Amino acid sequence: MEAPGACLVYSIEKVALVIAAAPTTQADTIDAAMMRRCLQLSEQSVAAGERPFGAVLAAGPVVVAAAGNRVEMDRDVTRHAEVVALAEAQRLLGKKDLSGHTLYSIVEPCAMCSFAIRECGIQRVIYALGSPVMGGASRWDVLTDPGLSTSMPQVFGDPPEILGGLLAAEAADVWRKWNPLFWYFIKRKGYLVLPRHEASPRPTSKERTWLSLARGLLPGKASRSQTRKRYFQRT
Ligand SMILES: [Zn+2]
Repeated sequence: MEAPGACLVYSIEKVALVIAAAPTTQADTIDAAMMRRCLQLSEQSVAAGERPFGAVLAAGPVVVAAAGNRVEMDRDVTRHAEVVALAEAQRLLGKKDLSGHTLYSIVEPCAMCSFAIRECGIQRVIYALGSPVMGGASRWDVLTDPGLSTSMPQVFGDPPEILGGLLAAEAADVWRKWNPLFWYFIKRKGYLVLPRHEASPRPTSKERTWLSLARGLLPGKASRSQTRKRYFQRT
């Protein structure tokens, strides 16, 4: 459960729920407010020695659970922010079924998290940065596969509504601030992507100096395309 801060706290049965911060302008939406919370959580993850991931599990305007990555803290590669938020929500609510809820994440959930999302019956999945190499929607057909729920409706929920690219430029900025050089590699290799219409934040002059020094370490275009070809031949 989140620290209350300026938010209102309600106790419902055994569960303490926190009302999300109200949108700051009329143009703001609940989705944008939730994604901003994910960005904060990602920054907190970085401060705790993790990579910049953050996730919120919400019921409409109510935050049920919020989490950053715990991979380094717990020495456990399965402790992705989305899984941590789902597990915390299930514990707080005392049930496995999270149908009717929305999962927000700074990055498109990976295949592992997507499987858990389908098992919980999450209704909506909203993320900022796409993940074409690891994502449970754009790379693997986990979030979007209707066969899971039609074949095993007792286990899997229907494919959730998916919205990608929300506050993607802001999310990219969190990643860039975490490590400008790694972010340059991540973008160049296409591990994480912004929607086409979103411009990535421009590096500062100091970051441009580093990047120009680091460019010599990257493989050239020919070898990158060969690497990608080998990758797809394997899969
Ligand atoms: Zn994951």
